[in-house]
Amino acid sequence: MLADVEQSEAQDIKENLALVLRQIGQLEQEHHREAGCVRLLAVSKTKPLSALVAAYQAGHRAFGENYVQEAVEKSQALSHLADIEWHFIGPIQSNKSRLIAESMDWVHSIDREKIARRLSEQRPKGLAPINVCIQVNISGEATKAGVALSELASMVALIDALPNLQLRGLMAIPAPQDSFDAQCVVYQPLMHAFVELSQSDSMIDTLSIGMSGDLPAAIASGSTMVRVGTALFGARDYSQ
Ligand SMILES: *Cc1c(COP(=O)(O)O)cnc(C)c1O
Repeated sequence: MLADVEQSEAQDIKENLALVLRQIGQLEQEHHREAGCVRLLAVSKTKPLSALVAAYQAGHRAFGENYVQEAVEKSQALSHLADIEWHFIGPIQSNKSRLIAESMDWVHSIDREKIARRLSEQRPKGLAPINVCIQVNISGEATKAGVALSELASMVALIDALPNLQLRGLMAIPAPQDSFDAQCVVYQPLMHAFVELSQSDSMIDTLSIGMSGDLPAAIASGSTMVRVGTALFGARDYSQ
């Protein structure tokens, strides 16, 4: 019986993945973006290994995790799937930075100098630099994490000077807005900052915005990587 349940969950995930990829393609077209320019990051936090394996078997490779312990355990458990790309997208406490430096390919949530320095120092020799995005606070008081746009230039300069970090772009988690237009208004300053930055550095190619609830606005606003959990894996149950 258990096997049947897992079979049908795997089938659901495969279908959801196809739907989300198709939706991204349609939104690229609708908002005059180049076909294929928006990557999908599958946000698998709180989901079991079987869910990640189902997405992997359906051809997906990039997974996003929020909680350090969980991210490390999953990356170890699935180390035989060597071409998985692990993205850390959650808040980072400095005493956990080493675990992230040792196991993640990308970190989207760089929001202070101390964390950037520690990740670079703690990256094991022999591993490629960590691809990083600076998390930008575009909602002011509404969310605390992230650097202000006014502090972006100094953060960029700091990361450029760190040998084991490769700056790839910007990330944001805006406060929820209830319309497409309102979501776009909030994204606009970020989009401008990203365009400016990417023109100054050819390695900067990633604007990590867009979740299950605001994909259209994010893709209209220049997203190159959407982070989708619920629409792929179903609602999360935090009571477990
Ligand atoms: C959980 C999470 C997501 C995915 O959210 P959904 O609404 O489930 O698509 C994306 N980004 C971050 C930073 C998250 O924590």
